[in-house]
Amino acid sequence: MTTLIENARILLDGHLVRVNIAIESGKIESIGKRKLNRFDEKIDVKNNFVLPGLVDAHAHLHDPNFTEREDFTSGTTAAAAGGVTTVVEMVLSTPVDTAERVGTKICLGEEKSLIDFSLHAGMMNLENSTHIGEIARIGVRSFKTFTCKPHYVDDQTMMSLMRETTMHDSILNVHAEDEEAANENFQRLMTEERKDPMAHLEWKPNAVEERAIRKIIGFAHDLKARLHISHMSTAQAVSLVRKAKRKRVNVTAETCPHYLTFTGKDMKNLGPYLKMNPSLKTVHDLEALWKGLQDGAVDLVTSEHAPGERSEKEIGWEDIWKAWGGVPGIETMLPVLLSEGVIKKRISLARLQKVSCENPARVFGLYPKKGTIRKGSDADLVIVDLKAKRKVRGSDLHYKVGWTPYEGWTLQGWPVMTVCRGAVAFEDGQILRKPGEARFLPMFQ
Ligand SMILES: [Zn+2]
Repeated sequence: MTTLIENARILLDGHLVRVNIAIESGKIESIGKRKLNRFDEKIDVKNNFVLPGLVDAHAHLHDPNFTEREDFTSGTTAAAAGGVTTVVEMVLSTPVDTAERVGTKICLGEEKSLIDFSLHAGMMNLENSTHIGEIARIGVRSFKTFTCKPHYVDDQTMMSLMRETTMHDSILNVHAEDEEAANENFQRLMTEERKDPMAHLEWKPNAVEERAIRKIIGFAHDLKARLHISHMSTAQAVSLVRKAKRKRVNVTAETCPHYLTFTGKDMKNLGPYLKMNPSLKTVHDLEALWKGLQDGAVDLVTSEHAPGERSEKEIGWEDIWKAWGGVPGIETMLPVLLSEGVIKKRISLARLQKVSCENPARVFGLYPKKGTIRKGSDADLVIVDLKAKRKVRGSDLHYKVGWTPYEGWTLQGWPVMTVCRGAVAFEDGQILRKPGEARFLPMFQ
């Protein structure tokens, strides 16, 4: 099967150029200006911008234990509709911490996912750290742990996890919020009987993230470990990572669309719907995160897709501690980055491509198979209409939960077509791919 994508505008060495992309057996065969004939199928994309399909390196698809919130099929349908062609599924409450459990999850993904996927293993602790080697050999070379509840590990364990992951050429992903500092605030809030949504913000202010990141960067420096910091939310985190990179610490970091678009103040209106961990911060933090994305301090954007049902959110108006923490975001990630980032001139189009396609693929060992448009790469593409303006409606999106924090936002720049390994997966609002065509992607192979 051969396909020609005609009249595509792509970024080549920082310039937008018009090319035709030839695809053979799911891979990019050539990129050039020549008109070619001999193709089974031709797709004229009419001078629209073409990006490599986005690589979302942190999404919770909730399969198999909480499928009322999302599952591999619904989550990756939303992904394809949003221009995401690769997902690295992030473990949440159900452990994926033995070779057997990883194997089960791979089978589930191959059966139910619409797009190619990889996995993070976790949550790692002292007991399951002995499984890191066997898991890494399957090709899952990324492990998640926490500096705070509900998956808290102490400093000694954190260091031994870094040693173990480094020994197996793997990455340690850390949810970085300091447990002691957070707990001090929590005790005070309990004494004051605070249950309002704003109490959640006071639980983990900036210093809580700063303290944890400072510590784990220190450990990574001393142990020469490969550290990745999940979902950063503060200006302090950005400057700590920027400084660590100057000192050649082997650290990468991500942030998420919600930290780039909302602040704690938005909880006054949206309340528990914006409950997430880390919590939202200030405009100063939001702008620092954009700046970090533009100058390279922050390596990548992940959706941190973590939908909860409306009922799990609504309960939080009365008692914020009972509400689900997390928001859906995989389908709106690209339009949010285009609209709030590129159109508002906070990041360049080239930088958007770097932080949402190339860097996540590089960091998690999927490059150059994924994350780039070049000869020999998988033909994963998203065709974007940069002028299209549309109002976000939860009911138009593909999430099981049916809501989005961006309800009513007008965003500019929407995917019109998504191509997965040469086959059209999404076009003009229609999903054209079925579960079962996805492949598991081993990292660094
Ligand atoms: Zn997460």
